[in-house]
Amino acid sequence: MGADAIADAVRHNVALAQRLSPDEHTRLLELTAELIDGISWEGVGIEVTDEIKATIAANAVFPVLAHDLYPYRTVRAVIVRPRATRSSGLRSGPAPGTVTDRPMVVDGEASARSGPLALSWNSVVYDSRHPQRGRNVVIHEFAHKIDMLDGDADGVPPLRGDELAHWVQTIDDEWDREFDDDQDDALDPYAFSNHAEFFAVATETFFCLPSDLAAARPRLYAALRDLYGQDPAARG
Ligand SMILES: [Zn+2]
Repeated sequence: MGADAIADAVRHNVALAQRLSPDEHTRLLELTAELIDGISWEGVGIEVTDEIKATIAANAVFPVLAHDLYPYRTVRAVIVRPRATRSSGLRSGPAPGTVTDRPMVVDGEASARSGPLALSWNSVVYDSRHPQRGRNVVIHEFAHKIDMLDGDADGVPPLRGDELAHWVQTIDDEWDREFDDDQDDALDPYAFSNHAEFFAVATETFFCLPSDLAAARPRLYAALRDLYGQDPAARG
């Protein structure tokens, strides 16, 4: 795909890109092109256009912007559907240790190992244009892939030694922190389904509403800043 098509899609659809420095923006476009080429794209009920590929890939690049695409080495295939689907199967949540079969809208899914990642285009583009809502299904699902690099979806990305110990302590402490009012917590309650969702929701909040997360949960913000090598709250 041509560089112009990527730049066009980013300009029209990827609001977070406007917060980047010129150097970061250049890097975003480079990594987006590389990621597009490395993925096998499949549309179900929709043709996967250049705009769709570039919008998905550019959002996915945010967590790895300070590094390279190595954390996405298990992302081989992305399946795109036109809109979210409804699911009513039994699953864990909303509170730890509970289950629910309430119908829920599924706008993205990430499979373990080299399994595919599925995304609904209507959710992708809406989230991508409105980061102030704090949701980004692409960043969320790609964060699950980073979490699963070490095999388990457990909210613990592949870290070692002191960094690993620090991360586990932070996620345990932050999971247990109670807010008097849900409104004061920057995290969507869905984060508390399990540790994997906590990591994915914390990551999308870190990029979409960095100042809110830094204010509500400074230790979690600092741990994510160290993990991703970026300080999005300082981008203004
Ligand atoms: Zn999730």
